[in-house]
Amino acid sequence: MTTATLLTNAEYFDRAKKSIPGGVNSPVRAFGSVGGTPRFMVSAQGPYITDAEGRQFVDLICSWGPALLGHSHPQVVDAVRAAVGRGLSFGASTPAETELAELVRARVSVPADGAHPAAAPIEKIRMVSTGTEATMTAIRLARGFTGRDLLVKFAGHYHGHSDGLLAEAGSGLATLSLPGSAGVTAATAAQTLVLPYNDLAAVHAMFAEHGPNIAAIIVEAAAANMGVVAPNAGFNRELAGIAHQNGSLLILDEVLTGFRVGAAGWWGLEAAGTVADGLGWTPDLIAFGKIVGGGLPLAALGGRADVMDMLAPLGPVYQAGTLSGNPVAVAAGIATLKLADATIYSRIDELAALLSNEVSLAFAAEGVEHSVQRAGNLFSFAFMSTVPRNYAQVKTQESFRYRPFFHSMLDAGVSLPPSVFESWFVSAAHDDTAVNRILAALPAAAKAAASATAAG
Ligand SMILES: *Cc1c(COP(=O)(O)O)cnc(C)c1O
Repeated sequence: MTTATLLTNAEYFDRAKKSIPGGVNSPVRAFGSVGGTPRFMVSAQGPYITDAEGRQFVDLICSWGPALLGHSHPQVVDAVRAAVGRGLSFGASTPAETELAELVRARVSVPADGAHPAAAPIEKIRMVSTGTEATMTAIRLARGFTGRDLLVKFAGHYHGHSDGLLAEAGSGLATLSLPGSAGVTAATAAQTLVLPYNDLAAVHAMFAEHGPNIAAIIVEAAAANMGVVAPNAGFNRELAGIAHQNGSLLILDEVLTGFRVGAAGWWGLEAAGTVADGLGWTPDLIAFGKIVGGGLPLAALGGRADVMDMLAPLGPVYQAGTLSGNPVAVAAGIATLKLADATIYSRIDELAALLSNEVSLAFAAEGVEHSVQRAGNLFSFAFMSTVPRNYAQVKTQESFRYRPFFHSMLDAGVSLPPSVFESWFVSAAHDDTAVNRILAALPAAAKAAASATAAG
């Protein structure tokens, strides 16, 4: 491979804009809220990512999660190479798909102990290619299973870009300041009931009015697409209770949290009593993505066998995919999950604690009003003095401080998410050298955040 720079980032961006809307294949990559020129990446290794101009950055996006082990982990790359050697896509079942399904099932279950019966929320799994497909299928399945139409979601929660889920969907929409998307019919939007997050009274009130028509509640296991906003203690458990009392399903979206915050995702942390006082509840369906594909396009939907068996070919709810369970993606997913052991999670927990603390200290040293948003090892920062608990609160922060902070870090060789409404991601490959580069960049960046003004 040639190392010569052919074009600059700016030239690649100009060229891309002629053939690709906005020059990007996913909106947040366009640097809309931070301004400036997106970096066009050519390679990534461990904690680093390298752009077309040959500049290397410490990467705190980690492909929005999948690079849990660091980029291009040698054993994952070997597994992918071996799979490629056997064939790219068969359009038929493969033995490895079942192995991946079994790995996920084994993780997302809690063994029985004296106090709690065995809980196995994943009995069956269907593989798809994107998180969007996983949640979209979950909703169709919930509607097919319950015979009801309405869906409850929370403001600021992102579940992918299927029509019914784009109401107040945080993340990319928050970055662009859009309430939802054009092109979604009024009839579709009317079937999505949007509630404030962490507000059980609002959920009770909605069910009192519409309960018999609500097919499901969908919720991010811990919200991380409006910055990180953890659920209040007992919130998810209470959602499960309300849904089940009303004959509705609870769809837990672990596309981002799954296999990142712990071996069994956020549900696993709650089920084990590690966080959020969440003992003793079980979602009906769980959506996975990001890490489950190890960096290749693979996502999955799992849950109760009686619900999952409503899917074709067993049941009347149709779902299919030419590349579903693609053998190369499955190989990456299996290799990643096999390597993601307790040591990896404790390393990531440790890094998250260290970095969130150091960033907070840097802001404090410059008098930047901020709060640290954390959910397990996911973290982000809100430019406000209190920790926001919902989307309305998140939006009141001084988000203009992020742009100069982001660019100062980027200039110093640290690639942060290009929006204040995104979580930061670390990998187990972020070693002392990478961490020290981040720490060295913080004082100047915090100073830039301190001197930012709303006007620009
Ligand atoms: C990323 C994400 C999705 C969508 O997954 P895609 O693979 O981008 O379609 C859904 N839900 C959550 C919580 C996510 O973070």
